[in-house]
Amino acid sequence: MNQVIDVKEKYNHFIDGKWVEPINKEYFEAYNPSTGDLLGLFARGDAEDVEVAVKSAEEGFQAWNKKKPYERGQVLNKIAHLLREKKEDLAYLESLDTGKPLSVSRFDVETCARYFEYMGGVADKILGEVIPASNEHLVYTEREPYGVTGHIVPWNGPITMAGRSGAVALAAGNSIVMKPAEQTCITTLLLAELCIEAGLPKGVFNVVTGYGSEAGEAVVNHPGIRKLTFTGSVKTGVHVAMKAAERVVPISLELGGKSPNIVFEDADLDAAAKGAMKTFVMNSGQICCAGTRLLVQKNVMDSFVERLIEEVQTVRVGNALEDPTIGPVVSQEQLDRIQNYISIGEKEGAEIAYGGKRLEDCQLANGYFVEPTVFKNVTNSMRIAREEIFGPVVSIIPFDTEEEAVEIANDSEYGLAAGLWSQNIHRCHRVAKQLQAGQVYLNDYQPIGVEAPFGGYKKSGIGREKGLESIHDYTQLKTIISKI
Ligand code: NAP
Ligand code: MG
Repeated sequence: MNQVIDVKEKYNHFIDGKWVEPINKEYFEAYNPSTGDLLGLFARGDAEDVEVAVKSAEEGFQAWNKKKPYERGQVLNKIAHLLREKKEDLAYLESLDTGKPLSVSRFDVETCARYFEYMGGVADKILGEVIPASNEHLVYTEREPYGVTGHIVPWNGPITMAGRSGAVALAAGNSIVMKPAEQTCITTLLLAELCIEAGLPKGVFNVVTGYGSEAGEAVVNHPGIRKLTFTGSVKTGVHVAMKAAERVVPISLELGGKSPNIVFEDADLDAAAKGAMKTFVMNSGQICCAGTRLLVQKNVMDSFVERLIEEVQTVRVGNALEDPTIGPVVSQEQLDRIQNYISIGEKEGAEIAYGGKRLEDCQLANGYFVEPTVFKNVTNSMRIAREEIFGPVVSIIPFDTEEEAVEIANDSEYGLAAGLWSQNIHRCHRVAKQLQAGQVYLNDYQPIGVEAPFGGYKKSGIGREKGLESIHDYTQLKTIISKI
């Protein structure tokens, strides 16, 4: 793979349509997870930089709202067009920065383009209602933007997550201050630059990089930010939601998961094994909705596990730029966390049926690589069944009856997603209705589509991203009552 684009050594904030040095002149380092090499220096933003970004976003908001809704839609479509034009460069940088295999990064850039394209079509279709409340009055509603929205995004899908909340906020007429995760800033910064190139007025999309406790905290607390969206862990999500509550600012929370994936005896076991493998290894397991609790009916356990291991053996782990099945995990910290959970699982009495080790052969020694790992004989009370590991680790939990499967599936503080495999259509829909999860997959564990609403039950979050539903989360409703 030839390098298609130069990686800059030093990245500043992107504010008011230009690159802006941090006021404190401080930078932090970020690394290539495939090699452990230094990738670049990034502005270490704090409250002073956020202040500048919010001012810029307030002005940007005025300019953005001078445009007609369909003109805003045209700009979003142009952004989608430019994303596709620059797909190779952006995918290359995303892979360097996150460790995602190149083809996954290409898919992520395309998904980001789809968010802008979809929301470009929505921009002039954000409708109000006429409400028959009285014969002497005209009563109608309008959906208005909040103003400046603050977006805190994680490292597991930088450009898709930026597109997911960014495109809908813009379609609704808001402006943005975004804080990417410290590990993965590059494509978020470049997306903001590309948006301005596409005709977004300067100041509408600002990116401040830095640590969560500094730049992130400043975004959450700034009085100029009228709506927040946070994607990340439950712990930080609860913290920022409490800060938002103090200011009475609405917040969308897209948090973690420990999603059940249920294999019934009447499933197509080959398809189920393929699907179960994909969902827990994809993006090296760093996907919030991954099916990491694999519930398998006891009478097909042995034949299913055999098939699953055959599938896992096909997984090629390697440097992101060589486009393996999976790359490294994002950081040394994440690798340590996963290895710790693997030893916790062993101590709890679960049995490793496959994998379990860090990969340290000469090519991979300096990167953050771990084998896909299958635990069997797991009970739902073990920590490896209750806590989110966020690595390529699956916990197989046996069950006897449909009722027991539903009970185990719902026995979790999370409720982001759930999957089930059965060739009995009645069972599929009967069980789907009972599962406490924001998305349910029947016979194909795939969170497809920028069109389909996504979000959590229980501690997995509040609000919905994606689809038309998400417009409600980025607009406030005004009711106008007029005497006729
Ligand atoms: P995290 O530690 O909660 O961080 C998420 C973001 O919050 C980062 O940008 C982080 O910045 C920032 N942050 C940290 N402390 C903050 C504070 N005090 N104020 C404001 N912002 C702060 O989560 P993570 O471990 O990076 O990401 C993995 C988690 O995200 C998993 O739990 C995963 O399930 C969840 N996730 C959920 C979805 C979904 O759609 N439901 C999607 C993807 C990921 P720094 O990292 O720079 O400090
Ligand atoms: Mg990085």
